[in-house]
Amino acid sequence: MHIVPIPSRIIYYDGNVGQNAVITKEIITDASLGEEGYIIRTSLNSITLCAQTDAGLFYAEKTLEQLRLYSSIPCMEIKDSPAFSYRGFMLDSARHMQSVDEIKKLVDAAALFKFNTMHWHLSDDQGYRIESKKFPLLNEKGSWRESDNFGSMHTGVRYGGYYTHEEISEIVSYCKERFIDVVPEIDLPGHTTAIISAYPHLSCRKEQIPVQTKQGIFEDVLCVSSEETLEFVYALLDEVMPLFPSERFHIGGDEVKFNRWKECPECREKLKKLGKDNYAALQSDFTAKLISYLKSKGKKPTVWNESLAGGDIDRDTTVQMWLDGKKHSVRHANRAGKVIVSDFYHYYCDYPYHMTPLEKTYNFNPILKGIAPVMSKNVIGVEAPLWTEYICDFDKLCYMFFPRFAAVAEVGWSSREKLDCRSFERRFNAVTPLLEKRGIKPAPPSHWNPTLPERLIGTIGFFKDKISISALTNSFNSQIS
Ligand SMILES: [Zn+2]
Repeated sequence: MHIVPIPSRIIYYDGNVGQNAVITKEIITDASLGEEGYIIRTSLNSITLCAQTDAGLFYAEKTLEQLRLYSSIPCMEIKDSPAFSYRGFMLDSARHMQSVDEIKKLVDAAALFKFNTMHWHLSDDQGYRIESKKFPLLNEKGSWRESDNFGSMHTGVRYGGYYTHEEISEIVSYCKERFIDVVPEIDLPGHTTAIISAYPHLSCRKEQIPVQTKQGIFEDVLCVSSEETLEFVYALLDEVMPLFPSERFHIGGDEVKFNRWKECPECREKLKKLGKDNYAALQSDFTAKLISYLKSKGKKPTVWNESLAGGDIDRDTTVQMWLDGKKHSVRHANRAGKVIVSDFYHYYCDYPYHMTPLEKTYNFNPILKGIAPVMSKNVIGVEAPLWTEYICDFDKLCYMFFPRFAAVAEVGWSSREKLDCRSFERRFNAVTPLLEKRGIKPAPPSHWNPTLPERLIGTIGFFKDKISISALTNSFNSQIS
């Protein structure tokens, strides 16, 4: 039977399930199933779903949904449980927004493949996307940009908007019914142009700047040394936290430039006070305060791996690894901190199949090299991110995401020894009708694994209008190697 993700164990018996088989669901005690595992037993006249939890029963139903694509279901027993506890996708709604209905379609797909987390990137240089009653300028100014200038994509059209509290609550409830946790991300202290455009006093220069219309890493970041900034951020977190019941909260921390801090008297003074000479220490100090604040509110803080550049951070913080040449995430895991793996070269689904073919995504082992075997359990899971600078319509989004989305889901759920990319491709094709029923059109199979010459040409084509040729060469070399 074609099931994605592939179950831990299937035993077939003689015969097929009859048309009038009775379906029963049962909560049982079986420690080997854990929090999310399940058993499906089918016989000539019955289908029984068993699990220790409602989540387990839900995943049993999702497997059954795939079995129902067949005209008849064999008599069998499936026993299944996940390899990792964290299995997610990330949606960037800051660069381009998706409608509530589109997000629900993605959530349905996530549930189908047994993802349990939607990491929702809601604040960046190009827009702030959460309704704010406390800080109305975040929406009046920070949610709107004058145009789009992403690579070769230009419009002269004002773009923007935000999700109202009602819309957020609708999405959170929709996810909850599908056992999906919604983890919001407010990216701090970099990627904050939209916030600064609304409240310039939060930056070092305190100058009015517009919301960004381009992709990039920008100089203007929050002034991390000012009490006013901290108070603002705490108040903002206080407003956002109640909208998202998830225990986990993501405070970003990637790609922070230090140039404004170097010229800011307050930031220089602060660095001196800390007794450090590397400005990464200022980010560490700021992040540590936010981590304590979130913890005091019962949250599990999550940060991108750059947050560790200034030194080790609180072990209760989860680090999301994406691009980590210095292996800070490995060090964090070896110190018993938790790590989520969303490696740029393998899991970033907004890059073309030429650069990141399906088999490259599928075959990547998220247990990062350098993690001591006894510490490998600190890799709590995997995530497939999708950034949307170049993705402004849902069909393009689905083309980029699927099947790589499902590949990451399978790596997150199925045990490593079960993984086989060719088998996955066949099984994904078989369940595609369930995606199409939800209005999701995956990339055609002929696009999944381009040949090496195709990859080279396609990757150059993708980057041509976006970054310099030297950056491209570096990127491609590290890809191929
Ligand atoms: Zn400053």
